[in-house]
Amino acid sequence: MKSVCLLSGGLDSLVSLALAKKETEVLLALTFDYGQRSFRDEKESSSKIASHYGVHHKIVKIDWLGEITKTALVDKKKTVPSVTEKEIDTKPDLLHNNAKLVWVPNRNAVFVNIAASFAESLGADQIVAGFNSEEAATFPDNSLQFVNCVNSLFRVSTFSKPRLISYVQSYNKGGIVNTGIKMKVPFELLYSCYNSSKDGRMCGTCESCVRLKMAFKGTGNFELIKDRFVEGI
Ligand SMILES: [Zn+2]
Repeated sequence: MKSVCLLSGGLDSLVSLALAKKETEVLLALTFDYGQRSFRDEKESSSKIASHYGVHHKIVKIDWLGEITKTALVDKKKTVPSVTEKEIDTKPDLLHNNAKLVWVPNRNAVFVNIAASFAESLGADQIVAGFNSEEAATFPDNSLQFVNCVNSLFRVSTFSKPRLISYVQSYNKGGIVNTGIKMKVPFELLYSCYNSSKDGRMCGTCESCVRLKMAFKGTGNFELIKDRFVEGI
């Protein structure tokens, strides 16, 4: 079995790459540059992770996607929304609204289709993404329904019919952390923040950071990641 992996450098893609590397021959890891404010950090993180696992790594530029994206993930004149741990547990409407503020039009569908082109060209059997149940609750393009729909598309959009899979589809972030610990993944290399880093540290207050902190706290492993945040809490 041969794989092409999506690699942003965040928790989910780091652990997914480790699982793909264990189960398959990973032909390529892909990182996308669509003008997101965290791109430099994602590039540095993903290239170190790819080196760690001895995987060929490629940056794919998608300038037009950044140009048409109006939300705070790309537009530096806007502010990435902050959330608290309590709000994540108790305010689904706020999270839904925040999702709109960081939305990139059709992003994951663009990513997996680009990956499918590489998979077909390279002869890979599968495309590995880090979609998971926690993010699927807010972002429908992380859901199993999305994966199933994409696989229906690939059966007719490609000759070689690579399959999109996520090893962590049914996991929440805590489950992903526990899997990563068992697999001794290099957590010190990850970058999961929506913002660009300050002195190499993540903001600690965007939804992605807060979910990361909660996952490490919830599994009793916060010491492993604590120093990576500006907030340091
Ligand atoms: Zn952050």
